[in-house]
Amino acid sequence: MSAPEPQLVLPGFANVHSHAFQRLLRGDVQRRDPARADDSFWTWREAMYSLALTLGLDDLRAAARLCYAECLEAGYTAVGEFHYLHHDRDGAPWAPDPLAAARAHLAAARDVGIRVTLLHTVYARGGVETPLLPRQRRFATHALDDVARALDGLAADDHVDGVRARVGLAIHSVRAVPRAWLGPLAELARARALPLHAHVSEQPREVADCRAAHGLSPVALLAAEGVLGPDLTAVHATWLDPEDVALLAEHGVTVALCPTTEGDLGDGVPDTPALHAAGVPLCVGSDSHAVIDPFAELRLLEYQARARTGRRCVVTDAAGAVAPALARIGHDHGYRALGLPADGDRVHLRAGDRALEATRDPLAAALVGGHRGLVDRVEVAGELVVSGGRALASE
Ligand SMILES: [Zn+2]
Repeated sequence: MSAPEPQLVLPGFANVHSHAFQRLLRGDVQRRDPARADDSFWTWREAMYSLALTLGLDDLRAAARLCYAECLEAGYTAVGEFHYLHHDRDGAPWAPDPLAAARAHLAAARDVGIRVTLLHTVYARGGVETPLLPRQRRFATHALDDVARALDGLAADDHVDGVRARVGLAIHSVRAVPRAWLGPLAELARARALPLHAHVSEQPREVADCRAAHGLSPVALLAAEGVLGPDLTAVHATWLDPEDVALLAEHGVTVALCPTTEGDLGDGVPDTPALHAAGVPLCVGSDSHAVIDPFAELRLLEYQARARTGRRCVVTDAAGAVAPALARIGHDHGYRALGLPADGDRVHLRAGDRALEATRDPLAAALVGGHRGLVDRVEVAGELVVSGGRALASE
């Protein structure tokens, strides 16, 4: 009789930043248009809009199911859905239920068994001082009152129990939300004790436009309007100056990095060493889902920090160890950013996998040098949702 294999168990990973429908772009946006001199975030965004304009309710739910099942199989046990596909393809409200698309995401998460924070995302204009483009009609938030109404409707949803599913609020960006709305939206989130998220300084053009319009960086603008606080998660934070880093640290803001997407989009390399040194809690998301693999996300986060500094072991715990710091980023900080409990969320790895042979600390080896193929079983709230590497709901 052979001895039982040792158990290798990690806490479930939190995928803090997701746009589930963008999973459908995988593989289709990896060729430069011969008519263009270059490809960039902005040309990718056009391809993303073209996809977004085609998707009906069933498509959105199917995409979310696929995306969330893949997340579970990769070891993510909770997801933050940054949801802004609010309306039907022509820009008209879904009828009879204007919240149908948000509910489709909640239902998809319930179907596959992943925890979800549905972040109702406010998107009101095309850019700093430019109106919404016709291609952005599905994203439109027409008035602040609409936001409160949507939050009320989602809070009353049968799936939203605060444990498996909850609601949060997102400011799309200082590009897409007028300055006068920033403070009231933060107050709205705080009055309801909701997680608050925002894309912040993903692209140099966003920072330049914000400075031209307000004389402030996006982080400084959010500070001036009272948005920064420990309930805020700033997504990307790629283009920060030292004053921005200090403001984020001072206000206890969490930063969600999406290293594989930021790499895919050519966004730039965040100043993770400065953020980490300033004590800013970090977490990760797979964002556009070009890659869904928390091991890859965490490893790239640390490798980018090494590339920036020319040093090794940059994002570490107090004892200088990388793996415990990555575990906190992947789990603790992420769950806090989503406002979700983590009880019973566990990832069981294939202990006998050759990738973990001859390693003195297999869990540390898995966190720094592993991959999603090591995931064997996943539990959410103690319930088995992945077995043999496959999401049970997909069988
Ligand atoms: Zn995003």
